[in-house]
Amino acid sequence: MSQFDVTVIGSGPGGYVAALRCAQLGFKTALIEKYSTLGGTCLNVGCIPSKALLDSSEHFENAKHNFANHGIIINEPQADLARMVARKNEVVDQTTKGINFLMDKNKVTVFEGLGSFESATQIKVTKTDGSSEILETKYAIVATGSKPSTLPFITIDKERIITSTEALNLKEIPKHLVVIGGGVIGLELGSVYLRLGSQVTVVEYMDKIIPTMDGALSKELTKVLKKQGMKFMLSTGVQSVERNGDSVKITAKDKKGEQVSVEGDYVLVSVGRKPFTEGLGLEKAGVELDERGRVKVNDHLQTNVANIYAIGDVVKGAMLAHKAEEEGVFVAETLAGQKPHINYNLIPGVVYTWPEVAGVGKTEEQLKEEGAAYKVGSFPMRALGRSRASGDIDGLIKILADEKTDEVLGVHMIGARAADLIAEAVTAMEFRASAEDISRMSHAHPTYAEAIKEAALDATGKRAIHM
Ligand code: FAD
Ligand code: NAD
Repeated sequence: MSQFDVTVIGSGPGGYVAALRCAQLGFKTALIEKYSTLGGTCLNVGCIPSKALLDSSEHFENAKHNFANHGIIINEPQADLARMVARKNEVVDQTTKGINFLMDKNKVTVFEGLGSFESATQIKVTKTDGSSEILETKYAIVATGSKPSTLPFITIDKERIITSTEALNLKEIPKHLVVIGGGVIGLELGSVYLRLGSQVTVVEYMDKIIPTMDGALSKELTKVLKKQGMKFMLSTGVQSVERNGDSVKITAKDKKGEQVSVEGDYVLVSVGRKPFTEGLGLEKAGVELDERGRVKVNDHLQTNVANIYAIGDVVKGAMLAHKAEEEGVFVAETLAGQKPHINYNLIPGVVYTWPEVAGVGKTEEQLKEEGAAYKVGSFPMRALGRSRASGDIDGLIKILADEKTDEVLGVHMIGARAADLIAEAVTAMEFRASAEDISRMSHAHPTYAEAIKEAALDATGKRAIHM
């Protein structure tokens, strides 16, 4: 029987990062993954492939609509979806192979097969051919991630009624893609096909899209996506989804209680994801789940069984790759006797539409609910020289700061490269910067980041220079 100090189950960004950090810290480490490629949801059917298709479709959109304005005249561009998907697969292949390289380099032993607990210290690995072996381990880290959720009355047929996984591998550009759920997946993958020429209708239960982000972002994103041609049915609860040949009909109730329907050739169900623990044998180890099927953990990410930890999408908190990674490092360092720390308030959220959307810290809605005394500074992207040069004039940056102390409580942005710009806000907030601190830092000109400085100037005495 092979013996390990730490055995990690699941090789997504939580699991593979935990395994690498454990190995760096001198633990004899095993990583078990049921699929033949490492990297989990994020690298195989999530973050990376979706961004590859977003990038390709954005190039197409620019070629079609923006090049001429820049003085570049080309023949009418054609979208070759098969090539886009093939390129996306090449990107995934390179990225997942990179994880194999890192495992070898750090001497992590990788087992391909389903990992299941036989007891708190014994984990069985079952290969696809049915053969199995038992690993003896001092500590275990559960990092088995999540799977798409659906609604009770929807059958995902993976052909016309699909999840994000199938939407990343379509063989044709839908004529009319109906998206159920105006959250991150729906808007990102909806954007891909909108840019490639599909009609896209988003049916959202709440009265706004990206409902958990700051309201100003939701409002601006709705405006911009509408301008791009996306259609929205808000405050609309889906009641049935019926396929008839190549067509799918969605029936729903709108906010007046009236029945409405919409028909498309593909329906993307993107109403959230649920933790995945099937086949893991947690009951044999005595590990408890919470009321939402997540592995129950304490503040140290330790389960009710002392030597078993859990991280990433399978535990509470945001279902984000970088949150899973932080937790992987946290557990490895905890096992090594260190005192790591994660500031969950400063895990940024990003939506890779164009313009991009990003936020960190408290939203204005949260501050209102808490009854906090706060002030707001904001700055429109269109007032920046950089935005006018590139033509990316949509969006704004909003800074929320404590009314009395001026400490930055939240930063919310929609605009070109917001996904990268948000790192400045995270850094500032990690060091508990005040809005005045940000307003007095030199920001290179011309950059999109100047909008952060201007929003900070606006928050501190309405001193924005270019507004
Ligand atoms: P996962 O990545 O889900 O990995 C879990 C792994 O465990 C899987 O490989 C699974 O096969 C394996 N496994 C499960 N059970 C067993 C078992 N019993 N034995 C062996 N192996 C097992 N997040 C971002 O931060 N940024 C993004 O841009 C982003 N884009 C996304 C786009 C899409 C379309 C989707 C679906 C998700 C996206 N996410 C994004 C979310 C991100 O993918 C997840 O938050 C992240 O992958 C969670 O990491 P994890 O390690 O917890 O689990
Ligand atoms: P989500 O939680 O972001 O959005 C789901 C949306 O569906 C919500 O707006 C919700 O109100 C709506 N909804 C729920 N029930 C509905 C119903 N019956 N009818 C209509 N609408 C309904 O979930 P998602 O978009 O499926 O993404 C899943 C997870 O993956 C998210 O937690 C997200 O963090 C992660 N993810 C992240 C990124 C990124 O970081 N860029 C990208 C993709 C996915």
